[in-house]
Amino acid sequence: MTDDAAEPGPAPFTADDFAARRVRAAQASDEAGLAGLLLTPGPDLLYFTGYAPVAITERITMLVIPVRGDPTMIVPKLERPDAENASGVAGLQLVDWSDGSDPYEATARLLAGTGRYAISDSGWAMHLLGLQGRLPETSYVSLTGGLPMLRAVKDAAEVERLAAAAAAADRAYEQILGVRFAGRRETEVAADLAALLREFGHSQVDFTVVGSGPNGANPHHEIGERVIENGDMVVLDFGGLKYGYGSDTTRTVHVGEPTDEEREVHDLVVRAQQAGFEAVQPGIQCQDVDRAARAVITDAGYGEFFIHRVGHGIGMTTHEPPYMVEGETLPVRPGMCFSIEPGVYLPGRFGVRIEDIVTVTADGVGRRLNETPHVMRTVS
Ligand code: ZN
Ligand code: ZN
Ligand code: ZN
Repeated sequence: MTDDAAEPGPAPFTADDFAARRVRAAQASDEAGLAGLLLTPGPDLLYFTGYAPVAITERITMLVIPVRGDPTMIVPKLERPDAENASGVAGLQLVDWSDGSDPYEATARLLAGTGRYAISDSGWAMHLLGLQGRLPETSYVSLTGGLPMLRAVKDAAEVERLAAAAAAADRAYEQILGVRFAGRRETEVAADLAALLREFGHSQVDFTVVGSGPNGANPHHEIGERVIENGDMVVLDFGGLKYGYGSDTTRTVHVGEPTDEEREVHDLVVRAQQAGFEAVQPGIQCQDVDRAARAVITDAGYGEFFIHRVGHGIGMTTHEPPYMVEGETLPVRPGMCFSIEPGVYLPGRFGVRIEDIVTVTADGVGRRLNETPHVMRTVS
């Protein structure tokens, strides 16, 4: 066992924490003109109950949070004992349904017969259709469509978890600088990164991008069998979950000595990332962060090579609202946590991306959770 596996970790969320989240959600639903929320297994249910069924199956499990009245979770009868043991379920009303009965009839009883409900983005269509069939007077909207800010503002205990995940990813980056790149396949370096993330306490590795040479110019390239060569730029973008919260960081390294052009492009991306970071303050719109970073790259004549939004929210998942993208007018608020990750991608040649997770502090400034230097490091 490593030191990290033995770390005590942050104090678990209590039943009161989960209950407070449900109260806040009911208020937010009311303000948004909704009749309530329907949360299904995955991050939404985990956030409001601490409960994750052993498997997400066709048997419906759903937490109903009405704007008025008590939240209730409906579960398959055979999974009730597991649900009862979840950390946030004490004090939460539970009902169950048995195989052979109509689960939608039972779930529909928990909803008002009219009004608009927001349902988890990843809820199963068959469950939604089942409910619609029983309650033709109700209507539905996706959770991120109806209440995009629901999980976007993190409390101090969540920011602490995100900071711990970021620190672990930073340690993985520092260690990867010492491994051999030249002559090895991208898949091999990616395996090293995954092992390091786990060594530093990640329970789950979600992605380990190693984009060498021309592969770095494709932001969606993950890993391949390409053998890394001396002279390559290598985009390293990796993350996963630690203590239930996500990490996601990118640094671009160079194998051996870079050319002047490679240095220039890298320096440009560093400045763009810094400009995005400095733009962060409560009250600006999410799109302003994108604009600030993009202006630096556009002014340098590389605008057409920055081909994605500048960032995304992060929490119990590595991609979630708020999205830092042109057209997103949601206000930036203290407690939000999101990536700032501008890039320049020169087709057929190389790419550069630099990504930090940033949070907005209570006193209204940006704070980087990733703290490794941006300066281009050379590897061997
Ligand atoms: Zn080079
Ligand atoms: Zn990333
Ligand atoms: Zn990212």
